[in-house]
This record gives sequence, structure tokens and C-alpha cells, in this order.
Amino acid sequence: MKEINAAEFDSEVVNGGKVVLDFFSTECPPCEALAAKFEDLSHLYGNDIKFMKMYRQGNRELAEKLGVKSSPTLLFYDNGQEAGSRLTGGIKRSEIIRNLDSMLTAGRVEEIRSQIKPSVSEFDVIILGAGPGGLTAGLYLCQSKINTVLIDIALPGGHVSTTHEVSNYPGFIEPQAGYMLSHNMSEQTKLCGTIYKVAVDVTSVDLEKKEVVIDEYETVKAKRIIIATGTTPNLTGAPGEKELKGKGISYCATCDAKYYNDKEVLVIGGGNSAVEESEYITRFVKKLTIVHQFDRLTANKQAQDKVLSNPKISILYDNEPRAFIKDGDKIVTETENIKTKERQKLVSDGVFIFIGMKPNISLFRDKLELDQWGYIKTNEDMLTSVPGVYAVGDVISKKYRQITTAVADGTIAAMAIAKEID
Ligand SMILES: Cc1cc2nc3c(=O)[nH]c(=O)nc-3n(C[C@H](O)[C@H](O)[C@H](O)COP(=O)(O)OP(=O)(O)OC[C@H]3O[C@@H](n4cnc5c(N)ncnc54)[C@H](O)[C@@H]3O)c2cc1C
Repeated sequence: MKEINAAEFDSEVVNGGKVVLDFFSTECPPCEALAAKFEDLSHLYGNDIKFMKMYRQGNRELAEKLGVKSSPTLLFYDNGQEAGSRLTGGIKRSEIIRNLDSMLTAGRVEEIRSQIKPSVSEFDVIILGAGPGGLTAGLYLCQSKINTVLIDIALPGGHVSTTHEVSNYPGFIEPQAGYMLSHNMSEQTKLCGTIYKVAVDVTSVDLEKKEVVIDEYETVKAKRIIIATGTTPNLTGAPGEKELKGKGISYCATCDAKYYNDKEVLVIGGGNSAVEESEYITRFVKKLTIVHQFDRLTANKQAQDKVLSNPKISILYDNEPRAFIKDGDKIVTETENIKTKERQKLVSDGVFIFIGMKPNISLFRDKLELDQWGYIKTNEDMLTSVPGVYAVGDVISKKYRQITTAVADGTIAAMAIAKEID
């Protein structure tokens, strides 16, 4: 692995044969998450592909010329031509491998794969999921000197990292940007000494044996597991939704509302998330229409009052989406009135969908006792039906899903485990 600067770009990268180049920054958690994977893969692929790093801020002009807008960004070059796809954000090992493999012959890929040595590491506690629930459990366990690893398929932070503003987390007088609140939670837990394995693929989870396999070859063992995997947004299921996800259909206002400056959007849903996020989206858009299946909103009164008095927002009650169709730059949403069955077509620049969540339990669905909606049942110590396996946060069966309740669950599970392990 070699660190280069802009002056060396032509000789080392453009004329360098097969190269992967990492534009990194300092004080960049996703860059830190990538560093160990990049180093490890350089040992595996280093004979065939050159691994290079460039400090983005120090080589800003070149980065901009190449269209590199965030750190880390991985660029792949094959004899001067950009190859594969650019990777950015929480970059997974499997995504890097896919790009590296695409530059080699199938036979060589096979040879390299055969050199991968499976690894095993042992901890007292594995926490699956680094949202507020998992991070808080990690902090308490770490402070009790319990050897803990936090595993997440994405970067730490969970839903909070993509929530535009949090105004109900105690201790802060002013509303907090969600990404800062989650960043602070994560740094506090990391600085304590908790080990992070983030932006990984979780290959399998054995709750009985307390073993988690990540990125196919790395087995992590522990005495206890805490499941803190949260929830994922529900889909409407209407034709076109999956195809247009990320191409005009979004599930995250903080991530995407800024791209709709002075445009018109639809919001599907009428509960708290839909209503609160609509209010936020109107900072950018000129017109927003909420499409809701009932004849009144189901959000709390305070949130409802805000949107009902917002001149940019109109509401189409009793309607559900039946199809999403791309028409040039626009999205045509076909809706059906569930009382009259009348259909209409609404043209907008984008669609945001906020219609509830489902628990992330696919890796252990059959192993645990669940409630009728598929959420994990726990006792007052957050212990599940499997001995030694705890669950906290939005993934458990409970009435109220908030940051504060996830944090409380994480605290309880960690204290119960600390007592047991003592
Ligand atoms: C749009 C929106 C706005 C919100 N606004 C607020 C608010 O203002 N105030 C408030 O109190 N609450 C708010 N909430 C609710 C709050 O965000 C959640 O209650 C809280 O984040 C739950 O924390 P958690 O740790 O249980 O799960 P999450 O935050 O969902 O984190 C779960 C983590 O688990 C990871 N994961 C998933 N599957 C796996 C797997 N198989 N293996 C490993 N890791 C996995 C995910 O990547 C994620 O990082 C909001 C929620 C949404 C969606």
C-alpha cells in the first residue's frame, strides 16, 4: 500500500496498470471503518492490483477534477480506464472484492479466494446493530470492563443518523442534528474501547452457540448476544416502487429532500414520521401533497397542527398508491380512492414513503419467540426466549419506539449481562 499525491497520479494510477485508489480524510469515521478492510485486502490482492491512498483535502483540486465529492471514495483503474463502480460511504468488504475480482480472470480470482484464511475472535458480548440501543449497551458494557464487539451492516448510528433533527432527546436545549447526536453516541462508545466491526456483511448468526460469521470468513464468538438490529421501512408494494427506489422514490427526508429545491413532491403516509418529515421537506420544496389511506391523519395532535397550517402542504385523504411510473424527470403516482375506487394520476418530481416499519430479524426469525407483528419478545431484563440472548430497541415487542426507549433498553440489557458475567 502506498500513499501518493496529485503529482504522482498520472505515473502511479493512469499509467499504473491495475490500481485501486482510496481518497480518504482525517476525522472521518467511514474512512476509519474502511482502513482495516483496505489494508487486509491489499495483502490478498497486492500481487495483482496496486493499492494506493490519497489524502483528499491535501489534493483537493485533483479530487474535484475526478468528481470525488465525499470521503472515503474508492476508484478502480485498469490500464488508465476507470473500472468497476465507484464506492463511497460505508463501504463493505464484499463490494470492494466484487470490483477487484472484475479486473482479474476467473482463474486468478479462484486462486486468491483459496488463500483466504478463516479467522476466529472471541469476546464476552456481541452486539448486533449500532443504533442508539446497541451503542448504549456497548457503552455500559465497556465501562463495566466487559470485552464487547459491535457489529453493524452499515455505519454506526442507526435511524438517528438520517433523522434531520431530534428535539426530544434529553440534555439538549436546542434541537440536535440527528447525524451529530448519533456521531457523539458512537464516539463515546468507541473511545471507551468497544471494538467496532461495521459496514460488514453478516453471513450467519447462531444464537445457541453465540457465534456470528461476518464477511463469510470471520467468525466472532461470545458468551452473550444482544440483538439491536432495529427496523426497516415498509414498502407500499405498488408496481414501480422497487425499480424507482433511489431514482425518485425515497424513504429518507434528511438524505434526499435537499435535491428537491423548489420542486413538487408527494409523501405517502399520515402517521408521525410522514407528518414530521413532511414539515421538514417543505424547507426545500414549493409544494407537497400527503397521500393518506384514511380520512384523517394518524400523527399526534402537535405534529398534525403544524402540517395542517403549512401553506405548502395539501392532503389527499382516503387514497393509496397503486403504481409509480417514471415519465422523463417526473414520477406519475397512480392512486386509488379506497372508498369510491376512483383512480387518479399525480405528477411530481419525487415521492417520499413513510408507512411504518418492520423488524430486522431475518437472520434469526425462527429461533426466537416473537409477537404477532414479528417483534422479539423479551422479559424485563431484555432477555429473549433463547438463554444468553438479549434484544433491545425498536426490534423488540413494545409500545413506544423512540431513541430514549432504545437507550433505556440498551442500558438494562448491559446491566443485566454485567451482573451475570460478574
Ligand atoms: C424518520 C424517523 C424519524 C425519527 N425521529 C425520531 C425523533 O425525533 N426522536 C426519537 O426519539 N425517535 C425518533 N425516531 C425513532 C428512533 O430513530 C428509533 O426509535 C431508534 O433509532 C431505535 O434505535 P435502535 O438502536 O433500536 O435501532 P436503529 O436506530 O434502527 O439501529 C439499528 C441498527 O442495526 C443495524 N442492523 C440492521 N440489521 C442488522 C444485522 N442483521 N446485523 C447487524 N446490524 C444490523 C442497522 O444498520 C442499524 O445501524 C425516528 C425514526 C425515523 C425512521
